[in-house]
Amino acid sequence: MSLNRRDFLNLGGTVALATPFLAVPQLVGAQSTTPVAATVPAYSQRRLGAFTVTTLLDGTIDIGADFIAGFDQAAADTALARQHLPNFADPMAIPILGYIIDTGTQKIAVDCGTVDGFAPRVAGYHQALTQAGIDAADIDVVLLTHMHPDHLGGLSQGTTRRFPNAEIHVSAVEYDFWHGSVADAMPDQMQPFVQIARGMIAPYNDRIKTFGTDAEVIPGVQAVALPGHTPGHVGFRFNSQGQDLLIWGDLIHLTKLQFDQPDWTIAFDMDPAVTKATRAKMLDMAAKDGLLVTGSHLDFPGFGYVDRTASGYHFAPAAHDYML
Ligand SMILES: [Zn+2]
Repeated sequence: MSLNRRDFLNLGGTVALATPFLAVPQLVGAQSTTPVAATVPAYSQRRLGAFTVTTLLDGTIDIGADFIAGFDQAAADTALARQHLPNFADPMAIPILGYIIDTGTQKIAVDCGTVDGFAPRVAGYHQALTQAGIDAADIDVVLLTHMHPDHLGGLSQGTTRRFPNAEIHVSAVEYDFWHGSVADAMPDQMQPFVQIARGMIAPYNDRIKTFGTDAEVIPGVQAVALPGHTPGHVGFRFNSQGQDLLIWGDLIHLTKLQFDQPDWTIAFDMDPAVTKATRAKMLDMAAKDGLLVTGSHLDFPGFGYVDRTASGYHFAPAAHDYML
């Protein structure tokens, strides 16, 4: 089966799936099944002060134009031309990224890829982790930006923790949303997302820590409330030796389009109006402060800076760090 925009809009912008848990369908019809490892490297590393930040590529998913609210082909082509790219071809592939921040005393994961079967070219997170020489048993903390399947899908296999020694930190608003009566009452099509959210985190029940809005999650790591995409969606701000990095979760899904057209939302944004307001605020802040940013769906390896343009923004990828 494939999903279309109407499925989402009928649910007030939330994601609708019509198949049971372990048979989550591909997001759109025609997708290449070329293995991710054959097309792009699966991890990349850079320094942040005394920290090492590793980006792990879980895979890619295709986003169709009918998933993008406000989409306009001419505007898309103009945005792409500014980046020396050909005209928009539907659908557009975007990556799913996870991060490991090694502080020297702790290994912190931020999100951890998606579940098998979510789409054809995904679920490579743990393979990428191994490729980067990182043992999942050495991860001390997993921070979740939110509880969608492409962000917590690498947590567990059945009832077994894939990070056997990790604590999970998640915003209280997000945890409560997915475990509450609103999630219980979601339509059948949405229940796979609810079950994935609950099932992936359940094996960690005795080691889940919830945090409040804009809290210091662990020493030196600040949560940044980014509501709209989901109710408890957050980013995490890291600092080492005066250098800052904001990992902003799903603030942007389409690197090549949404900096140019920041008012375009996608069907996964549960509250589009709040999503737009949050995005405007954060892009302005990142541009004003010259902040290094990354996010779960920014083009691999996903690090860069936000510049203002006459009508929107521009993403300037950070130069590669050859010292690692
Ligand atoms: Zn996502």
